[in-house]
Formats: sequence, C-alpha cells, structure tokens
Amino acid sequence: MARGRRWGASTERSGPRRSTALRERHRDIIKNGKPPSRFGVHPDCFHCGEPIDYTAGHLEPLSFQIDHLVPLEPTDGGLKGTDTIDNIVPSHRKCNRGKSNKRSYQPGVTYVTDRRWWT
Ligand SMILES: [Zn+2]
Repeated sequence: MARGRRWGASTERSGPRRSTALRERHRDIIKNGKPPSRFGVHPDCFHCGEPIDYTAGHLEPLSFQIDHLVPLEPTDGGLKGTDTIDNIVPSHRKCNRGKSNKRSYQPGVTYVTDRRWWT
C-alpha cells in the first residue's frame, strides 16, 4: 500500500528550493531601485563597481543578477543569510558568488581532522 517515493528518501542532496516569483520580485526591486532597495535605478555591480548591462542576455558575463551577500545555504556552517532585500545586492553574472551553494564556494579553512598526532 505504501508506495515509496524514492525522491523523498534523501533530503541531503536536494538543493534549496527558492521561489522563482520571489526572486523575480527581488530582481525587479533591485534593478529599478524600488523601495526598500538601497541602490538606485539600474545600480552598478556591488562587487566590482562597474556598470551592469541591463540589456544583456542572461548568459552574458556583464548581465544583471541578484546576489545574496550572506549565502542562503552556507557551506561552512556559518551564518545563514536571508532571502530578503537587505541581503541582496546587484551583481554581474560574472561576479555573482552565489551560483553556488556548492563546494566551489568555501570561504572557510579546510581542517585536517583525521590526523592522529597522539599515537
Ligand atoms: Zn561586477
């Protein structure tokens, strides 16, 4: 009777689920400088300070993306960011660190935990 749904078995691997609608709203607020954005209309990239090409296709390196200053899913077990405007900055696609909550983003130190220096 119970038909196991395998995809539900492991939550470890499933990525964070973000609302596309919410993201679009955030993009609109940042891009157009709507409150509560602290940036103006069509702001420059927060990371490098260069202008963002708001007409560029979304695959262009200079195209507009929103970036979470504090990652929503930190890989280092650190502070967890919020998906709110105060944690979101305008960014070039090429400057956006948040492409990943994956292993590529590791601000922390790598510890060697299996060294047995007491033996
Ligand atoms: Zn940039």
